[in-house]
Amino acid sequence: KMRELSRQENLEKRQKYLAPSLRAHYANSPSGALKLRSGAGQYLYCSEGRRYLDCVNNVCHVGHTHPRVVQAAAAQLSILNTNSRYLHDNIVRLAEALAQRLPDPLQSVFFVNSGTEANDLALRLARNFTGRQDVYCVAEAYHGHSAATLAISPYSKYSPSEMPAGVVKLSQPDTYRLGLSEAEATDRALAEYRAALASGEKPPAAYIVESLMCCGGMVSLPEGYLRGMHELTRAHGGLCIADEVQTGFGRVGTHMWAFEPQGVVPDIVTVGKPFGNGFPLAAVITTPEVAEASNKFEYFNTFGGNPVACAVGLEVLSVIDDEQLQHNALQTGAYAFDLLRQVQAQQPRVGDVRGTGLLLGVELVLDRATKAPDSEGAQLVMARMKELGVLVSTDGPHRNVLKMKPPLCFNVADAEELAKVMNQALSELPPLV
Ligand code: PMP
Repeated sequence: KMRELSRQENLEKRQKYLAPSLRAHYANSPSGALKLRSGAGQYLYCSEGRRYLDCVNNVCHVGHTHPRVVQAAAAQLSILNTNSRYLHDNIVRLAEALAQRLPDPLQSVFFVNSGTEANDLALRLARNFTGRQDVYCVAEAYHGHSAATLAISPYSKYSPSEMPAGVVKLSQPDTYRLGLSEAEATDRALAEYRAALASGEKPPAAYIVESLMCCGGMVSLPEGYLRGMHELTRAHGGLCIADEVQTGFGRVGTHMWAFEPQGVVPDIVTVGKPFGNGFPLAAVITTPEVAEASNKFEYFNTFGGNPVACAVGLEVLSVIDDEQLQHNALQTGAYAFDLLRQVQAQQPRVGDVRGTGLLLGVELVLDRATKAPDSEGAQLVMARMKELGVLVSTDGPHRNVLKMKPPLCFNVADAEELAKVMNQALSELPPLV
């Protein structure tokens, strides 16, 4: 067994051997980056043994080191792991289980290893199916780190080598920032899209959006938005892609997928992060028609759909069902939402509380009237909350939205701890003048 490195040794090696673009959370906070040793359920333990409530980790969806998932992975790893060109029951069973959880006609599955790969393939499928190039995406969206997915990720602020071609950016239907009702925000977005399509110069291969925009600042899509955007896309011959990489698998509580409350069925759905509970597993699910059209080109992915990944995915799906985690996301999420609204009532910096299920955002502003983003306050609150034992992250174009997306085993006491600690951290900030 290797000796555990001290924090200092770890930092030195990190600086010497890892590329500097990999930034550690809390690196600039008073107590510095967090060195973790273990996790269980919704809790993380640092190398000094302290417990943290993890409100960030939407990847370890059913809880860190869930014993059933660990056991499923270990058991399969000790029997066989290989690529998907041989017949194996795990891959077909998982494809069936996934298809059963999606509305018809979404039943053709491609297994990949990350959200980026899933969206990259989704773009390729749409462009091949339609014979077109242009993809319509939404401002502040993030869909991945490959060249094709970066091009549709305005969130990432392109570098010169990544200037997007074949991409049209639409504005974000952010009711809070726009100061519009849901109906008005939807009308505005549809008018903009209709105008963009009208010339016919850039017929859509696809329209892609996250069903609740997470990196974009936890922006819920307004009522009627997806239905309208899908109708326009289809009227112009394009495919509709739903990125469910962060939002999927019951997190929104009311439904398994965040597009469902909007009453639409996309042509392509991409899933990732929570699917493997930390093990690399992601997928693209589409219609037999789109999948058949892609049959002209070969798609092979060495690790995608391997027996271990699929054993993990099957276990994650069973645990979600057996532990009624979607229901817990609904109930505990609603409770946490109410508590955060109570924090808002006491804290003038909280401009908005939003989200659904266990996917919640708290937007900090310097002035509720002008909505000037309080980016610095958000960083201070995040750092102070860590000192107080609760991990949250910040996101959105101004990094002023505190983001909560904990493992779905999050409970009532955790929600109370989150709200109490957030309230305290906010109270300790200098008062607004
Ligand atoms: N889509 C969304 C909505 C995401 O949030 C992310 C990751 N933050 C990705 C795609 C890319 O996933 P991955 O990092 O697994 O490649």
